[in-house]
Amino acid sequence: MPKPLDPQTKKHLAARVKYYKEMGIHDFYRQPIDPNVDLALHPVNETTPAKSQASVTLPPVIGDKPSALKLIREDIGECTRCRLHKGRTNLVFGVGNVNADLMFIGEGPGADEDAKGEPFVGRAGQLLNNMISAMGIKREDVYIANVVKCRPPSNRTPEKDECDVCSPFLMRQIDVIKPKVIVALGAVAAKTLLAINASMSDLRGRWYGFRGGTKLAVTYHPAFLLRDPRQKKEAWKDLQMVMTELGLPLPNRAPE
Ligand code: SF4
Repeated sequence: MPKPLDPQTKKHLAARVKYYKEMGIHDFYRQPIDPNVDLALHPVNETTPAKSQASVTLPPVIGDKPSALKLIREDIGECTRCRLHKGRTNLVFGVGNVNADLMFIGEGPGADEDAKGEPFVGRAGQLLNNMISAMGIKREDVYIANVVKCRPPSNRTPEKDECDVCSPFLMRQIDVIKPKVIVALGAVAAKTLLAINASMSDLRGRWYGFRGGTKLAVTYHPAFLLRDPRQKKEAWKDLQMVMTELGLPLPNRAPE
């Protein structure tokens, strides 16, 4: 008769099973336990799972955010889970302050981001930087990521199946960073994060409850604002809503 798992191991296994379910994996098989092995002599730790138990790599204790993010990056690996890996130069994981109150999430890397391995570093990134500084904060204060981590060919919109395969990693990043507010940049990010299908005009201008008490707002993607600068005024309204929520002072004038 195998010994019951200790509460800490049970907690870690439950977290790992939850993660696999988010990845769409629902069937699990437990390897038979060798009755000759005394589990008490082979304690499970975070890097060396006991070979006699289900073969899993246990998640780190949340609290050490850089380690938790590193583990997510290791789990992604040299990912080929969707077709977007074919055109990738660099996988674009995410960047910024791991303790950020504010997280911006776009749809996917473009050419500059793919070349550098960092989100929002091209022209759209420059505009995002301007939007962030108009809020009275710096790029280094926030965390920035995308729904998909590899560049779609010719900068096309990521397909739903690509978003569905990749977004569980983003959800894990959000769970680690635990921002107070997420700003979804554009329809792809908004629809993926909220799992709803609606137009940008319906999605903007209101708050959504998100996981773990985080609030989510939707605004235009900076690449769209570059194509239609008249909408910058509307985006500024969205950012003012975010500033009020975060207790940031509102400037008297809108940014140029
Ligand atoms: Fe993997 Fe995401 Fe890249 Fe697809 S986009 S290959 S799921 S990392």
